[in-house]
Amino acid sequence: MKIPISIKDVEKEIENISNLNDLQLLKSKYLGKSGKITSLFKEMRNLSNEEKKEFGKSLNVLKNDVEELIDREKNRIEEENRNMKNRNFRDDETLPGYYTQMGSMHLITQTMEEIKNVWMNMGFEVVTGNEIEETYYNFDALNTPESHPARDEHDTFYIDEKNLLRTHTSPIQARVMEKRTPPLAIFSPGKCYRKDTPDPTHLPVFHQFEVLYVDKFVTVANLKACLSTFIKKILGEDRRIRLRPSFFPFTEPSFEVDVSCGICGGKGCRSCGNSGWLEILGSGMVHPNVFKSAGYDPNVWTGFAVGTGIERIVMLKYKLDDLRDLVRNDERFLQTFRRINL
Ligand SMILES: [Zn+2]
Repeated sequence: MKIPISIKDVEKEIENISNLNDLQLLKSKYLGKSGKITSLFKEMRNLSNEEKKEFGKSLNVLKNDVEELIDREKNRIEEENRNMKNRNFRDDETLPGYYTQMGSMHLITQTMEEIKNVWMNMGFEVVTGNEIEETYYNFDALNTPESHPARDEHDTFYIDEKNLLRTHTSPIQARVMEKRTPPLAIFSPGKCYRKDTPDPTHLPVFHQFEVLYVDKFVTVANLKACLSTFIKKILGEDRRIRLRPSFFPFTEPSFEVDVSCGICGGKGCRSCGNSGWLEILGSGMVHPNVFKSAGYDPNVWTGFAVGTGIERIVMLKYKLDDLRDLVRNDERFLQTFRRINL
């Protein structure tokens, strides 16, 4: 028995079809419950076993071909519909546009980037380090032995006896000095951790950057020149700095650095407590003991180190009065500074 339908017949019919409805009708006509091909399957029971085999085989081939043809046609029509829709959409210029709310860099990240660029332009290389640090690099290598009172000042998140969440970015300096030989000029930014209860001037997680310069004949004059350039680039050309003697275990002499008040220009006002100056960072000439733990000869090498919290600079630059605003994730606050980096 010959199959009375050929794939050519179906192809011919499909040529005249342009929508999914008609295609569905065509599908039922051939493959539906009482469709032409389905009926032929039913007729098979009247055939001899031998005929059945051959007829069944050809009928299956036809069925698969028709299914494939219909599927292909379905995809084609669907794609055409989509394109049509897109075309019509594009043509309608009166429709409202898409509004995408743009994200932006956080104020801390923005400021960190700015600071980084200033030091990079002065020839400093950016080096980062681990947030989980060994106590040795966090304290011992920086002239802060177990008995040192400064070790208590940092109320620290200890992980175990030997590891902690770094309390400052200085361990990066210790690690770099251990691996490399001078001259060195590095800038290391990153997150730091201390056991502080959040208040307007403290956060348990904060950001710092440190600068280390090691070479022959480095003097306080070099330090002052770099600091002055840095402050002017970040806070404005009219800002001045002053160095006050201070104490840090890893520098000698050590200086607290103040910047002239941006509001009164140094005359004295309410926001600077009438002093005309605001504290901005700590610095000093690298302590000979720090050089010794790194294996550098303190009689040959000299250097300076600078370090401060990025948040402190953000507060000064944008005149904020509560550090916690930076981490509350209040969109109104973040939006206020959104334009800055556009
Ligand atoms: Zn002032």
